[in-house]
Amino acid sequence: MTELTDLQFDQQHIWHPYTSMTHPLPAFKVKKAYGAIIELDDGRQLIDGMSSWWCAIHGYNHPELNQAAIDQLQQMSHIMFGGLTHDPAIQLAKLLLEIAPPNLTKIFYADSGSVAVEVALKMAVQYWTAKGQNNKTNFVTPRSGYHGDTWNAMSVCDPVTGMHQIFGSSLPNRIFVPAPQTAFDAVWNPEDIAELEQTLAQHHASIAALILEPIVQGAGGMRFYHSEYLRQAKLLCEKYKVLLIFDEIATGFGRTGKLFAWEHAGVEPDIMCIGKGLTGGYMTLSATLTSKQVAETISQGEAGVFMHGPTFMANPLACAVALKSTQLLLSQDWQANIQRIECQLQQGLSALNRLEHVQDVRVLGAIGVVELNFKVDMQSLQQEFVRRGIWVRPFGKLVYVMPPYVISEPELKTLLAQLVEVVENMEQAA
Ligand code: PMP
Repeated sequence: MTELTDLQFDQQHIWHPYTSMTHPLPAFKVKKAYGAIIELDDGRQLIDGMSSWWCAIHGYNHPELNQAAIDQLQQMSHIMFGGLTHDPAIQLAKLLLEIAPPNLTKIFYADSGSVAVEVALKMAVQYWTAKGQNNKTNFVTPRSGYHGDTWNAMSVCDPVTGMHQIFGSSLPNRIFVPAPQTAFDAVWNPEDIAELEQTLAQHHASIAALILEPIVQGAGGMRFYHSEYLRQAKLLCEKYKVLLIFDEIATGFGRTGKLFAWEHAGVEPDIMCIGKGLTGGYMTLSATLTSKQVAETISQGEAGVFMHGPTFMANPLACAVALKSTQLLLSQDWQANIQRIECQLQQGLSALNRLEHVQDVRVLGAIGVVELNFKVDMQSLQQEFVRRGIWVRPFGKLVYVMPPYVISEPELKTLLAQLVEVVENMEQAA
């Protein structure tokens, strides 16, 4: 029997995100990554357009983040958080609370984005239970949303585009309202909020919270919507006594041009989830922030405590790197840098607007999206991008980039030029 190559072994034995074990998409083997460059095993260098799914904001192999990890390793990599605490958790919390919405003063560290969402949903239910409102256990959410892959996070993803439709009736039944329609920079259409109002009027007695991704709906369709939706939603939540949860896992840490997307609207949620860019993409860590009022109400309820406490809660190694990553971001003129990327994305992608097979081109902060009017063949497109020396992973009808903030002007220029050529060639092929 011939021995399997590493790639064959990988294909036959290791699951990748959203792939088949019988017809897996080929994976490219990475040797190392640095700055905005991913270097493959065979020495090919790819310019990264994905930031490893929104998180590697400072690029890869950053000397300061490396040093923060090394320093922390020499103290301790992990220690249980039950009954013990440590500097990385405390210093990180101090910094995060400084940059979070002012009303959010309590922080819960969790393992991943999905878990942060689970925690947020649990907080909302425990809040109402503590107030004696045991029927307020359901959630309302706009369509086209995406909140993660664990059970309750799945239940609030868009039932069609959220990738979890297969679970159908095994998921708790949530209440969906239409996705916000007014684009980020369009004229606000008050009709946009009408169905949320009707839904809250009808169902508020059973609803614990409204959960949504502020301004940018990410994996559910890469849609940018109007900030007035958030202001109106907040008023409705207050009127109908429903908590407001912002999932800033993808939008946080400067990606949309503001440090967090709530700032576009000036609306403070009751609960907010952060993750991804929190550690600069070094390791998994997330957090769920909430207000004094929500935290105290939960703590005064029947349980007397908040019922969650993962093994790796506030992992010191992850907290130390997150602290350094956030300090690094804040120490730079990151707004000017995001603007530079935004301008380049606009200039680089706008030519695609004239193509018949391109439905829309949109840019916000360091996010550039090309929406086609057909679903792309991810496998062949990915091969083509790699052949051209760039790393872009499209999904559905979307070819999009959200590069690391350290990407240089020439790197981004090459990335966009190659991407544009590939999309243009699709026209010829069509
Ligand atoms: N919420 C949002 C808005 C996300 O984009 C994601 C991940 N794509 C998640 C939650 C889930 O995060 P994780 O993959 O770390 O569980």
